[in-house]
Amino acid sequence: MNSYIERVLEETRRKNPNEPEFLQSVEEVLTSIEPVIEQHPEYEKAALLERLVEPERVIEFRVPWIDDEGKVQVNRGYRVQFNSAIGPYKGGLRFAANVNLSILKCLGFEQTFKNSLTTLPIGGAKGGSDFDPHGKSDNEIMRFCQSFMSELYRHIGPDIDVPAGDIGVSSKEIGYLFGQYKRITGTFENGVLTGKSLSYGGSLIRPEATGYGIMYYIKQVLKHEGVKIKGKTFVLSGYGNVAWGCAKKINELGGKVLTISGHNGYVYDPEGINTDEKIDYLLELRSSKHRDVRMYAEKFGCEFREGKKPWEVKADIYIPCAAQNEIDLEEAKKIVANGGRFYFEGANMPATNEALKYMQENGVVAGPAKAVNAGGVAVSALEMSQNSMRYSWSEKEVDDRLYDIMRSVYKNSLAATEKYNTGYDLIKGANIAGFEKVADAMMAQGIV
Ligand code: GLU
Repeated sequence: MNSYIERVLEETRRKNPNEPEFLQSVEEVLTSIEPVIEQHPEYEKAALLERLVEPERVIEFRVPWIDDEGKVQVNRGYRVQFNSAIGPYKGGLRFAANVNLSILKCLGFEQTFKNSLTTLPIGGAKGGSDFDPHGKSDNEIMRFCQSFMSELYRHIGPDIDVPAGDIGVSSKEIGYLFGQYKRITGTFENGVLTGKSLSYGGSLIRPEATGYGIMYYIKQVLKHEGVKIKGKTFVLSGYGNVAWGCAKKINELGGKVLTISGHNGYVYDPEGINTDEKIDYLLELRSSKHRDVRMYAEKFGCEFREGKKPWEVKADIYIPCAAQNEIDLEEAKKIVANGGRFYFEGANMPATNEALKYMQENGVVAGPAKAVNAGGVAVSALEMSQNSMRYSWSEKEVDDRLYDIMRSVYKNSLAATEKYNTGYDLIKGANIAGFEKVADAMMAQGIV
């Protein structure tokens, strides 16, 4: 391996010993940009990689709130402002019990390259809290969001940092967060958050954007492989916003979704998740207090496989749409043994580096999260554009732009693989294409 990369990896491991997820993403990115580093010896003198792996700013804060029983609860809030070389910090907020700094640094680092790949001017960030929305009432969620924003507001702004949703944060939470921001600052700066409802500056297609974007990207890959989506079977994990949008588009394109999953098991629906009623039920599940996918199986009379993951089901295309590291080597082996030809990351970092490597070595075409799920943040950036113009585009205008963006994400990744002779490796291609633009901007802006 290139000695500069090796040294930076070593230092990063030494400085962040308790951050396995963060180290995983740094290893994945740095090892795949080796050919670029080889061609740019000036990067080492400018300590470009050392700066790249260090967030520009990490904010950690106390979030006290009062539950419905009158008891005081304290959670931890974070915002990791990772890189602003190409635009204001941009990235989602995640509310989940397992949220910690390592996961958010990993996601913020990945977001930097994903946002660069979208071709739009947005930097990278991520934030959230270990607040667990499961079983919480709407009033509790509102009080939590108000407390969270009472600290966060001083660090964000339409030209500074623009948060959005992620796991556990949908338009409901964004609404409570925006209400508090507006109240504290006394301004109507709706470009400060994206993923808003339509009535106060949200964008059409934003809810569908991640899922639709996944399928627009997949269309490009399948075109390259000479394969049609019609009649293909899909295994999805998750049941939230990403799985919902993706299932909707798969049906429209004539594919069949066999599974969705939650924290306690997966649903196998051999008929396919193929009607508006079934697909819209995912939204209901997501906003319900208990958020248990078993409810889908009970309602539509199909099987719930408790404690299991859906990768054991045979299908043509596998799309994880839940959280990080749900596919380890064992799960990857199941995908390969099932003859799966295609694996696309709807979720962020759903597979371990070892699992990814195994799939690629066994002939599975793999599309990485930073390319495959870039449609969500891309339409967030289009929401920012519309807010700046104080204007809104039609559904078709946004959807057409999303389609073009996803085509560019694929084309730019492919072009990077050709430029650096990596073979048809979409993971390397996405990392290189995302990195090149950020590196150029960082070099141009001097040592900051
Ligand atoms: N959380 C999404 C992501 O991982 C969307 C972020 C955004 O819209 O800013 O890309």
